[in-house]
This record gives sequence, C-alpha cells and structure tokens, in this order.
Amino acid sequence: MLDTEVRELMQSFVLSDYQVQEVYSRFYAEISKGLKRSTNAQATTKCFPTYVQDLPTGDEIGKYLALDLGGTNFRVLLVSLKGHHDARVEFQTYAVPKDLMIGPGVDLFDHIAECLAKFVAKHDMKNAYLPLGFTFSFPCVQKGLKEAVLSRWTKGFKCPGVAGEDVGRLLHEAIQRRGDVEIAVVAILNDTTGTLMSCAHRNADCRVGIIVGTGCNACYVEHVDQVDLLDHEFKREKKQVIVNCEWGAFGEGGQLDFVRTEYDVTIDNKSINPAQQLFEKMTSGMYLGELVRLVLIRGLQKKAIFKLNPRREEFATILEENENIFETRHISEIESDTFPEFANTRRICKQLFGLEKANVEDCQKLKYVCECVSKRAATLVAIGASGLVNKTFDRKVVVGMDGSVYRYHPKFDEYIRETMHKLVKPDKTFDIMLSEDGSGRGAALVAAVASKTK
Ligand code: BGC
Ligand code: MG
Repeated sequence: MLDTEVRELMQSFVLSDYQVQEVYSRFYAEISKGLKRSTNAQATTKCFPTYVQDLPTGDEIGKYLALDLGGTNFRVLLVSLKGHHDARVEFQTYAVPKDLMIGPGVDLFDHIAECLAKFVAKHDMKNAYLPLGFTFSFPCVQKGLKEAVLSRWTKGFKCPGVAGEDVGRLLHEAIQRRGDVEIAVVAILNDTTGTLMSCAHRNADCRVGIIVGTGCNACYVEHVDQVDLLDHEFKREKKQVIVNCEWGAFGEGGQLDFVRTEYDVTIDNKSINPAQQLFEKMTSGMYLGELVRLVLIRGLQKKAIFKLNPRREEFATILEENENIFETRHISEIESDTFPEFANTRRICKQLFGLEKANVEDCQKLKYVCECVSKRAATLVAIGASGLVNKTFDRKVVVGMDGSVYRYHPKFDEYIRETMHKLVKPDKTFDIMLSEDGSGRGAALVAAVASKTK
C-alpha cells in the first residue's frame, strides 16, 4: 500500500469534485466570452472562426499536398482521397532543428519550402500543380481559408518576424524565392480542425476535435449565430463554422490559480512563454514529464520516495541538474507497468538515473506520481471536452482526438471518459474516436471541401 508521505506529496494534483465543477463553470464562461465580439478582447480562449463551414461527406476525391508544422516534427504529405470514406497518405518526416524553432521566421519558412521541394521532386510531381493544405498548429486570426495571421508562438517555437504576419504569405514567398516548385496554398488550418475533419470523414457525428500532444487545444462545430467574429457574408448560406477555441491559453486571467501547484508555477516561470498557455502547461506532452521531474525532486527532499535507496543522493543530483531528462513518454511507459514486475519503471530508473534495483514500493510510488500528473491532465481535458460537447446543438456527439499523449498513454482515454460521464449533460450521448492522421488527411479534406463548394 502507498504510505501517507507520497499521498501528501501528490495531494495538490488531485482535483476534488468541487474543483472540477468550478473549473468547468469557468471554462464554459470563458468560451462564451471568447465567442462574443464585445468580450473577446478580455477572453483567454480566443475562439477563432476557422472559415471551415463544410464537414466532409466521405465522397471527396483527388490528390492533395499537405504540410504539418507544430508538433515535434515537420512533415510533408501526399494525400489521395478515394471516396467511400477512404484515403491514402504517404509522408516524409523532417526534423526541425532547435535553432530554426527560435531563429528568424524567414529561415523557418525557407526550410519548409526546401523540404516541400525535395518531397515534390522525389515523388515526381514537379509539374503536377497540386493544391496544398497547410496544417499550422498555432493560434491564428483567420480572414479566410487562405489567410492566417499568427497571434503568438506556443510550444517550443519563438521565431521573430512571424507574429502579426500571414503565414500563408510567408510560405508563398519562401516558395517563390526558390522558384523550383509551383504550388497553390488553398487552405491553412489548425491541427484540431484537421483532427475534426478526418474523424468526420469517417463518422458523421463528429463535432469536436482535440489534440493532446506537444501542445493542447480543441475546436468544435458552432452555429454561425453564436460566432460574432464571423463576417455576415459567411452566415448567409451556411449555418455552421468550426471554431478553434485555443483553450491552451485558458487560465491566463487567473481562472486556474486555485488549482495550480507550485510545480505549475515553476514550469511557467522557466518556460520561453511565461504567463502564457497555462492550461496547456498542465495538460500537454511538452510539460507533463517535466512536472514529474519537479515533483520527484521535492519528493526526494521530503524523503517521500526512494527513502531507502543507497543512491538517492546521486539520483537527486541527476534530477536537479538535468531539465527535461524525464520525458512524457516515460510517464506512459511507467503507467503501462504491472505489479510486481515494474519492468519499464525499473529500466527507466536505471537508464536515466543509474538507479539499480529500484524496490517494489518505490516503483509503486513512482507510478503513483505519474498517475496523479497524467490523471489531472486528462481531467482538465475532459472538462473542456464536456463543455464543448454540451455547447453543441446535437444530441449525439463524437469527439475526435489525437496527439502523442492521448495516443500512447495507456489510460488517458479511460480517465477522460470517467470525467466526461460526470459532466456531459444527461440528455446527450458522447463517444471518443482516435483520429487517423488528422494533420494530413484533415488538410486534404479542408482543401477538398473548399474546392467542392466553389
Ligand atoms: C497551439 C494550438 C494547437 C495545439 C496542439 C497549441 O500550442 O496553440 O494551435 O492546436 O498546440 O498542437
Ligand atoms: Mg501534430
């Protein structure tokens, strides 16, 4: 059994029913604020209209190029939509070197254009003139499908010269500078939109798209009358639009202060975007591993964990000296472990910290620490998901999800459903489906439905 020390250590991560309800109310109010023109400026969740107003029917066909920037990797994709809800995706992954993530924007876009040109050459498509969908997973003010002005960088990116600019234009200019490929950028979209579209391609009830990966965010299908920021011309023919909530920024107005821990404050202070993306910093893959590292440092000081291990001093030093040594994927691996073997936990203790023969009690405790951190993240995501499900007009709502945390964590889905069952209105039913390559297939679908309706 777990002793009281480790339970006390983790107490601040365990959300009470009252806290869950309170975060829910605040979140719901914040989305309403974001949707209204008169209150949007004060809202943390900006609820950007995406200009995507048609969901796929499944009969879309054609070949499309897609770019995917915003997670750990950059990808170029070739998507063939085949009708009958079917698609084939081929892609190439390219690293985004750290210096490009924080260097001048021009260099980043030149790199993107170079990867694109190589991909097109390799696939013998130089003269094919394919329409391209750009999945750019950062908060953007859109003025139409093809125009997206970056409002701020998030996650590990911070390239000067891009915020306030239209990333569609920056990409276009980079392609022009090379002069060796001809490509028409027909749509710029968020990865949450891509996720929603790719799930809607296969399930007509999908109304919400969520990413829990390097970053965290959601979008949903809203009635145009609710979306003040959408120009009137877009409200005449079509009755719905996808809204990109940018819920990662929730909490910047202090709404989460009553649940944030000292560790959340530390994470925020040492990040490259302090005071920003506070909800994201409690829920996404870029931060969860680091939260565990900080908790472990405190746990060692308090002798709440690894109390009897002879190498505890060295362990503490390694933890203190190596930021990010403990990664979010380690949380997933540890939580996949079974008692009493704890095979992953023991391997990780040895590989990362040189801790031989971690005992069963310490393995249990480490797993508990991971569980508390990931369960809180899942609970917060579920609060947001429930808010959006409750906001939609449909009785039956499917939520499309993707992202490394959701995909690889053994229990994230279960944790989310548990909380959603408490918060989704009783007259509604919901389900969650895993998205299949939302950033690629989704980009192609946005491009496809855009050309269909012209
Ligand atoms: C960005 C969102 C994106 C999310 C998931 C966040 O940091 O602001 O636009 O959807 O990460 O990639
Ligand atoms: Mg991604």
